Amino acid sequence: MSEVDPPSGPRPTPRADGDGRASAAPDPAIWTEEPPPPARPARAPARRAPRPSSSRTIIRGAVVFLAGVLVGAVLIAVTSRDEGSTDLDAGKAPAGATTTAARAEEDPPKGTGSAPTTTAPPTAETTAAPTEPTPVTTPPAGSPNALAIASALSPLPLPSDCPLPLGDSESLPNAARDYRGGVHEGIDFICGEYGHDAVATMDGQVLVANGSFKDPTPEERLEILNTAKQIGHTPPWTLAMLFGRFVAIDHGIKPGVGHVVTIYAHLNEIDPAIVPGHHVKAGDRIGEIGNAGTESAGTGEARPQAIHLHWEIHVDDAFLAQGATGGQTSDVYAELFGR
Ligand SMILES: [Zn+2]
Repeated sequence: MSEVDPPSGPRPTPRADGDGRASAAPDPAIWTEEPPPPARPARAPARRAPRPSSSRTIIRGAVVFLAGVLVGAVLIAVTSRDEGSTDLDAGKAPAGATTTAARAEEDPPKGTGSAPTTTAPPTAETTAAPTEPTPVTTPPAGSPNALAIASALSPLPLPSDCPLPLGDSESLPNAARDYRGGVHEGIDFICGEYGHDAVATMDGQVLVANGSFKDPTPEERLEILNTAKQIGHTPPWTLAMLFGRFVAIDHGIKPGVGHVVTIYAHLNEIDPAIVPGHHVKAGDRIGEIGNAGTESAGTGEARPQAIHLHWEIHVDDAFLAQGATGGQTSDVYAELFGR
């Protein structure tokens, strides 16, 4: 609309009427036409009352005044609205004022990371108008259904003989990972030494096995992480790099649960039998737990804590208990492993 208007009509005619003829005292008229906002109100009256120049300027003045009053009123209304909305959003994410779509995407990771207690309620709170997208972006594995899903799959055998850290929220899903602008999506089974096996938790079929993975240099790694940090979340391919040498297994569609996939990351080596398409049974060895993809793997630093299995379970494209609080997450995974 605004692109079409100028060339077609209004502008040429007012110029002829106002600027061309009333050359004696056109200065105010010209000035009012120069800046974009007041120009239009000033032109319109010029057409209607073209004859007496004195009354024309009076009318113009009145119109400009009225327009000014209107603009002022609109500005006051708009600013008061903005203030109201920022007040409403203040409790959550300040960036949430932009779009509901952005909110829907941002809320699960942020809430889980910084203020876990607010993550479950937001979905309920935002139900009124803007939350139609949230049910789509919060799949069944999210907090509302996580316990039921865990119960349906329970008891799952552990993927390693290293400790299951149910009491350490930093090693569980939903823990903040500020260095990459994201959250932890899996469980860290910290072994502290080489020689431990990673094993399949359920029957399934291998999706990914990147045995030829080589760690980036620390500088390269930092570049990648800084990009994720700037974005404000960790893109999937960045996560894949951080997995290092890893295996993903498709467990098919489980009745009453959904499509289940598990991930076994930071492996020191992958068993030669584990290749895409290969069928595995629960308990089958996948490889040796290591530190591939971690910072110390890039530096060559001997850091026992870095030798761990990062294990994830996804149901229908969400990690289990996605968006849950720390306590809820611990409960869900305790249920999953029958603890
Ligand atoms: Zn991890």
